[in-house]
Amino acid sequence: MVRFILLSVLFLLAFYVIKGLLKGLKSRKVLKTGSKHDGKPPVTDILVQDPVCGVYCAKRDALSLNWQGKTYYFCSDKCRNKFRDQQKKS
Ligand SMILES: [Zn+2]
Repeated sequence: MVRFILLSVLFLLAFYVIKGLLKGLKSRKVLKTGSKHDGKPPVTDILVQDPVCGVYCAKRDALSLNWQGKTYYFCSDKCRNKFRDQQKKS
């Protein structure tokens, strides 16, 4: 019985040590990537909504269209053309 308790305590200790190591690795990784991007603009993953189909897509992947001083973003060329046609009609 005592042996069992000792084993479980050891197991818990090992678990916490591993957990701490993983945490340390993680924070080190963040610091590494942080310094890597020094001088460079960070990757902007701003989500923009397509006014035609309502889908959200990353700004850097989206197609943009300037319409009357406002920039609109679209998921595809098809949506952009559709939007352009709609604006022309109205
Ligand atoms: Zn779309």
